[in-house]
Amino acid sequence: VQYFLSNIQAQQHLNVFLSVYDKEALTQAIVVDQKIKNGKAGKLAGLIVGIKDVLAYKDHPLQAASKMLNGFYSQYTATAVQRLLDEDAIIIGRQNCDEFAMGSSNENSAFGSVLNAIDNNRVPGGSSGGSAVAVMADMCHVSLGSDTGGSVRQPAAFCGVLGLKPTYSRISRHGLVAFGSSFDCIGIFGNHVDDVALVLEQIAGADEFDSTVSQNVVSSYSNQLTETQKFSIAYIPETIENPALQPEIKATIEKKLGQLKEAGHQVEPVNFPLMDYCLPTYYILATAEASANLSRYDGVRYGHRSADAGDLTQLYKQSRTECFGGEVKRRILLGTYILSASYYDTYYAKAQKVRRLIREQTKALFQKYDILIMPTTPTTAFPLGKNTDDPMAMYLADIYSVHANVAGIPGISVPCGVDHQGLPIGLQLLADDFEEGKLLAFADFLM
Ligand code: GLN
Repeated sequence: VQYFLSNIQAQQHLNVFLSVYDKEALTQAIVVDQKIKNGKAGKLAGLIVGIKDVLAYKDHPLQAASKMLNGFYSQYTATAVQRLLDEDAIIIGRQNCDEFAMGSSNENSAFGSVLNAIDNNRVPGGSSGGSAVAVMADMCHVSLGSDTGGSVRQPAAFCGVLGLKPTYSRISRHGLVAFGSSFDCIGIFGNHVDDVALVLEQIAGADEFDSTVSQNVVSSYSNQLTETQKFSIAYIPETIENPALQPEIKATIEKKLGQLKEAGHQVEPVNFPLMDYCLPTYYILATAEASANLSRYDGVRYGHRSADAGDLTQLYKQSRTECFGGEVKRRILLGTYILSASYYDTYYAKAQKVRRLIREQTKALFQKYDILIMPTTPTTAFPLGKNTDDPMAMYLADIYSVHANVAGIPGISVPCGVDHQGLPIGLQLLADDFEEGKLLAFADFLM
């Protein structure tokens, strides 16, 4: 704990932590140490974890990096966080992110941007930027983030660490601030596949507080890592031929596919005509869900309340106007428009149908293949400010990551070399529903 606290202290300029629970973590370390000596320690004893500011931790601040939740303290603990605590992991602090997890660069935080530790003029990715940099810059062993449309895998790629988004419903969402409820997943950042596997098997599984969570048995992922097997691997040629893909990322992926083939794995191109529809489908449905989910921030029930509103309508309007940031307002407006009576069928209902087709086509692919490989991101970490005035350019950073969320399948970003500027490149691996074991075993094989 002291080691990580001193790293946090020495790298405050990166703006990673919104709260550091230093005293608590040190006290807990003594308790856990005693348990270890008594042979009574949990499975995660001594694991130091940071949590994104969208996860509830009783009696600790929770703000989703928004002014809207100024002064709000969690009244209960998220199931995933509780399960870590139950196994004697130590929570070291609350990590900066994009406001309400909306963004791809961490520039939408009310607390300012997180900086990439390799080049401080570049973004760490988003929305879980703080959680990625914390693992990258040795401020904790692992972090919990959230991935609605790539927010774990994309920053993991930009920071050269592992980022896992499990199958939708694998981990309880109880205590996770809602953004797009049919997409939201808690995800895990780490430097080692076995850390990620160990954390996943502790936090996944049935939970009486989340009616949508899967009842499927949780495998012992950490014991499956050493299984050697030949994998059948697919790739979608359009994702690699895409002119928007940075040439060095293209070259890295092509080289990796070649190596896998040489090593005796089956590597084949596949047809996936719906790829171009993933991004629009995601942004239509996620904004619609966000507009509904964020209606609860009305100036009455949580956090901020406008000081000088004359009546109730004004109170709602002013509280929301004063505190939501630009990107959150844009999404609420887009989502409200999409759900409005005259446009519901044109956008919302249509996008739901496309989502179903994407899921079916994706599931069909995994009838034949174990793993689908694609880039995690079209570019390596871009300079701070580059896309802030161009939301479309920012959304395009997610072209490869939203597929997994639209289809509900698990995905992981694995570090795979660097570009000419020394910026990390991420390789994305996708698998069928509940095949996290296979995904982690393959990631381990690549590391
Ligand atoms: N970048 C995507 C967005 O802005 C994904 C966010 C997320 O996964 N939380 O919506």
